[in-house]
Amino acid sequence: MLIQRLAIIGIGLIGGSLARALKRAGACAEVVGCGRNTRNLQQAIDLGVIDCYETNPASAVKNADMVVVAVPLGTMAKTFATIHDALSPQAIITDVGSAKATVVSDAQQYLGQHFSRFVPAHPIAGTEKSGVAASFAELFEKHRVILTPLPETESQAVDIVSTMWQKTGAEVVKMSVENHDEVLAATSHLPHLLAYNLVDTLAKMDNQTEIFKFAAGGFRDFSRIASSDPQMWHDICFANKDAILSVLEYFNIHLTQLTKAIQQGDSQHIKNIFTHAKTVRDKVCG
Ligand code: NAP
Repeated sequence: MLIQRLAIIGIGLIGGSLARALKRAGACAEVVGCGRNTRNLQQAIDLGVIDCYETNPASAVKNADMVVVAVPLGTMAKTFATIHDALSPQAIITDVGSAKATVVSDAQQYLGQHFSRFVPAHPIAGTEKSGVAASFAELFEKHRVILTPLPETESQAVDIVSTMWQKTGAEVVKMSVENHDEVLAATSHLPHLLAYNLVDTLAKMDNQTEIFKFAAGGFRDFSRIASSDPQMWHDICFANKDAILSVLEYFNIHLTQLTKAIQQGDSQHIKNIFTHAKTVRDKVCG
C-alpha cells in the first residue's frame, strides 16, 4: 500500500477528488479529512470520500504518512503553522495550490524541519464547482500535475508524491516554481480574470437585461469559468500578483492593437489575428 494514513486538509473539489481517486486505486488504507464545517465533513463520509474527520488540522495529521493541504491559497500559511508540531518525523507533506511561490515561502517559514519533505504540487485539473459534492474520482485522469520541488526537497518524497498522482491517472511533470507561476498566469489565471471581468462589465451596462437574454453559446463558453469560487481567485491574484500583472500588461497591449485595427478598418490585421488564433487554438485544443 502506497499510503497508510492519508490526511487531507480541505475536503473540497480537489481534496475530495484526490481522496476518491486514491481510494479507487487502492493506494491508501485510510483517509482522514479535515475542514472547518462538520456538515461538509459528514457529507464527505456519507459519500465515501473519507473514512473519518477532524476539525483541527493538528489532530488530522497525527500519524499520517502523507499530508495533502488542499485549502485556499490564503489559508496555507496558517495551516502549515498549525500542523507543524503534530507531523510525524517521516511524514511527506504536499499541497495543490494554484500558485507556487507563496506556498513554498509559507511552507519554508512554517514547516521548519519538515520542509525538506514538502513537495509543492499543482494538479492542472478542475471545474468551476466547489465543495466535496462536486468532487469525482476521474478529475485528474489524463491531466497534468506539476511538481515544483526545490534543490533541498528529498528525492524519495518527490518520488512518492509523483506515484500518488500517477495512481489518479495523471501525468506528472516537474518545473521550477518561477516557471510554473509565469506559465499558469498566462494559461489559467489570465483567462479567469478575463471571464470574471467580462461578465461583471456586461452586468453593469444599462441594457444588461437584454444582453443576457440573448446570451448564447459563445457567451456560455467564454464565461463558464466566471462561475468559479471568487475567494479562490481572489487569493490567486495576491499569490501570483507579479506574473499576473505582467501577462495583463502584455494582453492589454494586444487588445489595444486590435481596438486600433477595428477603428482604422485594418482588415488584414484583424484577419491575421483571428486566423493565427484559430490555427493555434485548433492545434492546442483540437
Ligand atoms: P473548495 O472546493 O472550496 O475546497 C476548499 C476546502 O478548504 C473546503 O473543504 C473547505 O472546507 C476548506 N477551507 C476553505 N477555507 C478554509 C479556511 N479559511 N480554513 C480552513 N479550511 C478552509 O476549493 P478547491 O477548488 O478544492 O481548491 C482548493 C485548492 O486547490 C486551492 O488552493 C486552489 O488554488 C487549488 N486548485 C483548485 C483548482 C480548481 O479548479 N478548483 C484546480 C487546481 C488547484 P471547510 O469549509 O469545511 O473548511
